[in-house]
Amino acid sequence: MKKKQKVGVITLGCSKNVVDSERLMNQLINNNCELTDDPEKAEVVIINTCGFIEAAKEESINTILNAVEMKKNGSLKKVIVSGCLSERYKSDLEKEIPEVDVYFGTEDYGGILKELGGELKYELLGERVVTTPRHLAYLKISEGCNNPCSFCAIPLIRGKHVSRPMEQLVDEAGLLAQKGTKELVVIGQDTTDYGIDIYGRRNLAELLDRLSGIQGLEWIRLLYAYPSHFPKDVLEVIKNNPKVCKYLDMPLQHISDGVLKSMRRGITSRRTREMIDQIRQAVPDIALRTTFIVGYPAETEKDFNELCEFVKEYQFDKVGVFTYSVEENTTGFILGDPVSEEVKEERKAILMELQKEISLAKNRELIGKNLRVIVDGFEGSRKDGYYIARSMKDAPEVDGEVLIPAKEKLMTGSFYELKVYDCNEYDLYGEVLRI
Ligand code: SF4
Repeated sequence: MKKKQKVGVITLGCSKNVVDSERLMNQLINNNCELTDDPEKAEVVIINTCGFIEAAKEESINTILNAVEMKKNGSLKKVIVSGCLSERYKSDLEKEIPEVDVYFGTEDYGGILKELGGELKYELLGERVVTTPRHLAYLKISEGCNNPCSFCAIPLIRGKHVSRPMEQLVDEAGLLAQKGTKELVVIGQDTTDYGIDIYGRRNLAELLDRLSGIQGLEWIRLLYAYPSHFPKDVLEVIKNNPKVCKYLDMPLQHISDGVLKSMRRGITSRRTREMIDQIRQAVPDIALRTTFIVGYPAETEKDFNELCEFVKEYQFDKVGVFTYSVEENTTGFILGDPVSEEVKEERKAILMELQKEISLAKNRELIGKNLRVIVDGFEGSRKDGYYIARSMKDAPEVDGEVLIPAKEKLMTGSFYELKVYDCNEYDLYGEVLRI
């Protein structure tokens, strides 16, 4: 029997990259490879990079340089780089870091397997090695994006929007549920465009309903909804289907008309407000998450103040703020980067501080309330540690948590009813009511 190759897969960037790595890992174990999550123990390291914005690119390059160093020291035999950074800058990287054995683009599983003496097993493409906690998994329903956002390099890297057939997705979700997934997080670059290419209409609502029919799945959470063409029938599903989380992640990026126009977001300030109002009318207890970009070239002080007023007025449950990163070959590149890093960071801090107050006030309203939560894990010592849990209003990795003192033994991946007794800006503290 040929000795198994020890392979370490390092995943950087977003949850879509996590799914790509999980697919690759399943192919690797079916091609005479043994996975290790310790690069020190690996013979081969595969780095699935992110190339979205400056900070992410830096992290990817540092990770590559570390692996190359390990190869120079003889602890690694081979370094393979794949993913978005490699897709976007392959020829530059080949020149600048030639010590890497081979560079691949995104989703080139066949090329990577061939490099390791294996071959792509098409019949296994719907299967994954789940790297998230066993009860939680991401479902990537599409690849690429059709939207022309001026600041974004993703369409340059991932191409046009391509939906995955519904049957494949239902099968994949079924396999995940059999493996213990209870919370399925639905992702894509733009989940609201699901079906537009292969079914000629947006049928995300139908997909969510189909997924909710899978035994074992209890929470289906929708992320990355695009504001300008949000299919209203999705709201009916969120409202009426108890398995679909009353939660929606919809990056808005900004609110000033001038900035939205320059960003080519295809929506106005007035329509954005109308849509948020519609969502809240349809699903009054929905938790809304959004993200904003500050320091975009066209953003004036007046625009930024308008954004702050909007955040104060609309009181989102969760907000992420990014500082603008100028990206070559995007349509916004010609605008340059006139807003200084200092001003960008200042605006980010102001907006985050604003949201902190809103989040604290919303959390305080939950004190004394009962919540259903899922336990993700445990932190600290048995004596004074906490179980880390989340309610339907908290997406994994990006939102707050519910902390439960370690009084009784709880099971990771199980649901519990609890009463909230305290909070801070981002997290809640709760006591389990029923085991
Ligand atoms: S919706 Fe806009 S920001 Fe999001 S991936 Fe597509 S182009 Fe980029």
